[in-house]
Amino acid sequence: MSYVEQVLKNLKKTNPNQPEFHQAATEILTTLAPVVDAHPEYQKAALLERFVEPERVIMFRVPWVDDKGKVHVNKGYRVQFNSAIGPYKGGLRFHPSVNLSIIKFLGLEQILKNSLTGLPIGGGKGGSDFDPKGKSDREIMSFCQSFMTELYRHIGADTDVPAGDIGVGGREIGYLFGQYKRICDEHVGVLTGRGLSYGGSLVRTEATGYGLVYITEEAMKMRGDSFKGKTVVISGSGNVAIYACQKAQQLGAKVVAMYDSNGYIYDKNGVNLDVVKDIKEVKRGRIKEYAERVSGAEYHEGCSGIWNIPCDVALPCATQNEINKASAEALVKNGVKYVAEGANMPSDLEAIDTFRKAGVVFLPAKAANAGGVATSALEMAQSSGRLFWSFEEVDAKLKNIMVNIYHNIDNAAKKYGYEGNYVMGANIAGFVKVADAMMAHGIV
Ligand code: NDP
Repeated sequence: MSYVEQVLKNLKKTNPNQPEFHQAATEILTTLAPVVDAHPEYQKAALLERFVEPERVIMFRVPWVDDKGKVHVNKGYRVQFNSAIGPYKGGLRFHPSVNLSIIKFLGLEQILKNSLTGLPIGGGKGGSDFDPKGKSDREIMSFCQSFMTELYRHIGADTDVPAGDIGVGGREIGYLFGQYKRICDEHVGVLTGRGLSYGGSLVRTEATGYGLVYITEEAMKMRGDSFKGKTVVISGSGNVAIYACQKAQQLGAKVVAMYDSNGYIYDKNGVNLDVVKDIKEVKRGRIKEYAERVSGAEYHEGCSGIWNIPCDVALPCATQNEINKASAEALVKNGVKYVAEGANMPSDLEAIDTFRKAGVVFLPAKAANAGGVATSALEMAQSSGRLFWSFEEVDAKLKNIMVNIYHNIDNAAKKYGYEGNYVMGANIAGFVKVADAMMAHGIV
């Protein structure tokens, strides 16, 4: 049995009932074999065993009171996975599906993603099984304050800097930051995605979606292609999806479909993003309303049908495992040329394999959605330097980072004999830097 196989076997045995964590670890470790084989010293130093074991896992109770006076208790998590190259960095997810397996898969991915940005940030992730849907602002505030009342003692501007993720946007970051500041009496860059009036960075809101389109644009450019005239399908209608749609439209693409967790809209004339933003960002409503407001648009109950819509580019931007083998086959049959992951692990292992065999240009999440965390790191730089950069300045830095990530993963894939395989390229390029730092630190 190879070193990688041994580590994976042991990981599954010692972390039972964590299917998402197993899936992410399998995807990552199986692609690292060429690097691990070239460095026998890694096995001697139990480097992979240490790489897949979080440095620290924090789990806590989050009690809060709803508007009717009823007391609720949710689970809170922060997994501080790897700080070899910088302070832990990664979002907080509030969604009823959140559990330790999901936070660990996200944390593991985050280590390599953060490394790929080229910036000094380690990997972490956190969240809660709290469901923000249908809650009043006061209930959200009550929950966020309770969550931070425990979390504050574990984080810090040079220790661990959380940000948003599913269910955690500007409103939640505001409440979390307010409580941190109140307890610690420190106005520091301890969270990113902050509002512009209290230390946030321009472009952070747009960053993940814009970055996704920038890296896809670079992959297209290298093939003499562009977004102009392309038909695009985007899943989700949250932060990442909305700004991916905006940038793709600015570059001349036609986005024809989006969804939320109830169903999808199809607008053959091209999605009117102002209407989507009004429904999702202003009214916090359901995507279904789009078809009631825009003539010619259709609404379909259920999500998976979206992948049957013919498109040149698919940008999954909602959640993990939203594209399975059948959905991938439907996309391929209808001629998809580029798939770039805005969400984390939206394609399962069989779907990735289907894209690879069909020659689809596939950009995996840890490279394709790294623009969000990269811009968070730019927010950290502005916070510690007491600076405020213009929109154009941050956007140019973001674009530059995404273009560099593309070439970095492309070169790594080529170097190890897997040209065009960006899953290999991203995992290897991200891992090499973290491995070097871990080896330099000794057995810690
Ligand atoms: P949001 O909460 O803003 O939006 C999430 C969107 O996905 C919503 O439309 C939501 O629908 C939909 N969704 C969530 N869960 C499901 C599900 N189980 N089935 C179908 N649809 C679902 O989150 P973000 O846009 O911030 O995050 C989306 C993805 O991007 C996540 O995978 C996240 O980890 C990843 N990501 C986000 C970054 C960021 O900067 N925000 C950075 C890097 C990655 P509904 O409204 O019905 O819940």
